[in-house]
Amino acid sequence: MNNLIKLVFVLIIFPTTIIAQSSKKIYNYNIDLLHVSNDEVTVSFAPPKNNLKQGKFIIPKLVPGFYQAMNFGQYVSNLVATDKNGKKISTERLDQNSWMVHDLKHVNKISYQVADGWDSLEKDTYEAKSAGSMFIKDSVFVINYNSLVGYFEEIKDTPYQINITKNKDFYASSALDYKKKDKNTDIVWAKDYRQLVDSPAMYCVPDTTWLKIGHTEVLVSFYNKQERQYSKTIAHEIENILKNQQAYLGGTLPVNKYAFLIYYESSNEKGFMGDGLEHSQSTVCLYRSGSMKFLPNALNRVASHEFFHIVTPLNIHSGEIQHYDFLNPSMSKHLWLYEGMTEYATIHMPIKQKMISLEDFEKTLEEKIKGMKEFDDKVSFTEISKNAMTRQDQYMNFYEKGPLLGLCLDIRLRELSGGKMGTQDLMLQLMKKYGAGKYFNDDDLFDEITTMTYPEIRTFFKDYIEGTQPVPLKEYLAKVGFTYDENTGKVSLVPNPDSKQLALRKAWIDQ
Ligand SMILES: [Zn+2]
Repeated sequence: MNNLIKLVFVLIIFPTTIIAQSSKKIYNYNIDLLHVSNDEVTVSFAPPKNNLKQGKFIIPKLVPGFYQAMNFGQYVSNLVATDKNGKKISTERLDQNSWMVHDLKHVNKISYQVADGWDSLEKDTYEAKSAGSMFIKDSVFVINYNSLVGYFEEIKDTPYQINITKNKDFYASSALDYKKKDKNTDIVWAKDYRQLVDSPAMYCVPDTTWLKIGHTEVLVSFYNKQERQYSKTIAHEIENILKNQQAYLGGTLPVNKYAFLIYYESSNEKGFMGDGLEHSQSTVCLYRSGSMKFLPNALNRVASHEFFHIVTPLNIHSGEIQHYDFLNPSMSKHLWLYEGMTEYATIHMPIKQKMISLEDFEKTLEEKIKGMKEFDDKVSFTEISKNAMTRQDQYMNFYEKGPLLGLCLDIRLRELSGGKMGTQDLMLQLMKKYGAGKYFNDDDLFDEITTMTYPEIRTFFKDYIEGTQPVPLKEYLAKVGFTYDENTGKVSLVPNPDSKQLALRKAWIDQ
């Protein structure tokens, strides 16, 4: 494939705030990015105060947004536990991602080495690069804490303090706030493991630009070995998108800080490769291409989708996501919401905000329809969401059929409310009802939304999202004065729309 764009999107949580913590019940970590040898970083930590005879230390098997085991423990070696006198305490490796540490209450320090998951975007051996870490001594470090830091199964929901030793000219780009302790040391806090893993960092000599969108501070951080002053160009592109998203979301963005961490590798190879992983308040974007001219455009598309995740799952998510299990996660059935509605907002916003023409919008719909046809239309979306690990073959349909279901839901809501309410309003109401710290029960969401809207919406969910009826595109597009030819996949305006169709179209896309 010439233009391989592989985007992987994550489910998320929690706002990033620094927590002042005086209690001893913390994980106190040291990560050394300065004295790196053989692409290995030395990591050590003091476990939280405890009374445990033993503890199971875990490095994630997988992280939110990925549905295949990545076994981050495979990069960890030489794990050693010692007491306060430096005497070794016995440990045993249980499997790739876990260790039993004996006499845990007397353990003063645990240290280990971590190898990086990838060195270059040229090699296609390691699939999920955007979730892994990469170390190039004295140049750049892409840090995903799930490959560097772990937790004890017996001691969860505990804050983390991370001390990072680094090159004096390096700057940490992240949604979390890094404090400078001295010229070679930074300190960062996370309220728990979930938040730490949800907040990747890029360490390098800074090429950063800050944007202010409403009250939201947006960091655009860029790394390329050759081009060291490019963040401003990228930020300029992203700014327009974000301002329109702000208007689309009713004028306020529901985050205080957001970070785009963009690593770009120049290559002699043909084509373009992109790998992205979004978090609740940041996005890691990895790109490789022969020419930088593709970059602004490609980033625009990705930035828009990923930034919309501040709505869901950040502010609207189920318990499965809030209490994510890094060894054996149980999946939510609402990927239609997290990915489908996010992608719907991404394609609906440009036409609603008059950024694109009606023809461009029709073209976008036709591409989604074409994409959807590559997948099985006879499977339940809640089913494949719940079983995302075994239904990888259908997963990408959340980005194709998902937004088309969002479109139908939007038109249905506007129809039932006489044009007064659509998915934009629904998502704002759900954000208000739940928000970052409050989750919904997976089994209750459809009923909750029905209570907030119309009884007919329950039937919509039952038929098209829980059930296996094909998405009713033709019927719903007709309501807003479009024809959809199911044979050719062509979407176009009806020649003589009636006043009802015109009114509903106006409410839907303001055209
Ligand atoms: Zn996504």
